[in-house]
Amino acid sequence: MNVYDSQRMSDTLGRLGYMPVDDPDKADLVLLNTCHIREKAAEKVYSEIGRLKQARERRRAVGADMLIGVAGCVAQAEGEEIVTRAPAVDLVFGPQSYHRLPDFLARAQAGETVVETDFPVEDKFAALEAPSERNVRARGVSAFLTIQEGCDKFCTFCVVPYTRGAEFSRPAAEIVAEARRLADAGVRELTLLGQNVNAYHGEGPDGGEWGLARLLYELAEVDGIARLRYTTSHPRDMDDDLIAAHRDISALMPYLHLPVQSGSDRMLAMMNRRHDRGLYFDLVARLRDARPDIALSSDFIVGFPGETDADFAETMDLVRQVGFAQAFSFKYSARPGTPAATMDRRVPEAVQAGRLAELQALLRTQQADFAAGLEGRTFDVLFEKVGRQPGQVVGRSPWLQPVIVDAPEALIGSLESVRITKAGSNSLFADLVSDVSRLPGHDGGSSYRAESFA
Ligand code: SAH
Ligand code: SF4
Repeated sequence: MNVYDSQRMSDTLGRLGYMPVDDPDKADLVLLNTCHIREKAAEKVYSEIGRLKQARERRRAVGADMLIGVAGCVAQAEGEEIVTRAPAVDLVFGPQSYHRLPDFLARAQAGETVVETDFPVEDKFAALEAPSERNVRARGVSAFLTIQEGCDKFCTFCVVPYTRGAEFSRPAAEIVAEARRLADAGVRELTLLGQNVNAYHGEGPDGGEWGLARLLYELAEVDGIARLRYTTSHPRDMDDDLIAAHRDISALMPYLHLPVQSGSDRMLAMMNRRHDRGLYFDLVARLRDARPDIALSSDFIVGFPGETDADFAETMDLVRQVGFAQAFSFKYSARPGTPAATMDRRVPEAVQAGRLAELQALLRTQQADFAAGLEGRTFDVLFEKVGRQPGQVVGRSPWLQPVIVDAPEALIGSLESVRITKAGSNSLFADLVSDVSRLPGHDGGSSYRAESFA
């Protein structure tokens, strides 16, 4: 979501005449868009500000200058504290107010230190200007689109409800219009974003309320959009309509990120996740029934306060029973202001580290097994960019893995059938199956294999 927010900020800055540069030493303005979800992410901000201060001094030595801003969830959570700890900072603003960037910048340029952490009442997205043609083109083949923000669930470990605020769903018509604009500029794949994306309940063009499933059916009809994904979902909001959408919508990719955090019912209750492991198993079974080729990804927290060896064993058991194609796992990080931060029976760091290593070893094996199982299989890949080696193009499998193929660059932006020859540690290698002799500039030569499978 921070990537999407940064793009929208860059849209606004483009309208003000700013252009992106690749080096802070060349920048009149640097905005750090920050994450507060774990302590490590939040602490990085201060070391980064230190580096920017030096860049600013180098610029001042040659008569130029630089404004330094902190945006995002660290800004929201720490506000004024950031300026106290790092007086070099000129602007601090939270994720709900970046549509007011032109005003903030004008004030900062006039010498004011701007700190804005209120949750404004107006709809940020409606207030944002549409991105310029050039900026939309820069999104490439696959783009993010935020449809929902904030969270009302208050899991005991999590800062999101405090930094992103209450749950909000954008009206469906606004989302569809943005999707059309992206598709017109060459986007073929949309990833719908939300902290709780499947809690989406936006106003429909018919005045009624639309859920995520209804929105997905509509977006699947947008010309040019070949693939749809959404993230991140909460198990509690995986309703029947959404599961049916996985059966009915071929553009909806058979890959779902469904965080479970823990396999222990006791931990799930302490985390206030509002479901047990039974519900998770049930969802996985129903999703696999609706879409047999669906693969799952998840998030896990190890070492939540009070987690015993037996609780952790339940997590390992859940992972073995479900089988994940991919996953993110973290040591519990106490976040200021959250209920879990004051719970006792903290798990010692060494125990957390041991559990994380054990879990990650299992998840890595599952990921490798899933990839190896694709060797010899044929499916569509959406080509996104040129590869590291000359003559290579890189696309994504339906399950989000990078797929590397020797093929012409003209394939970027198209979906082509490939056959997997080898599963590497982070990507798949494949031969082209589609006949691409139709492509412009293609001489029908044999630098790649063009086979046709009946
Ligand atoms: N809305 C999503 C998750 C958003 S946060 C959901 O409900 O699943 C992304 C991930 O960061 C979480 O799934 C969790 O695994 C991790 N995370 C959040 N807070 C954390 C904390 N305090 N310590 C460690 N990991 C955390
Ligand atoms: Fe955080 Fe997700 Fe829980 Fe909301 S549902 S509080 S975003 S972990």
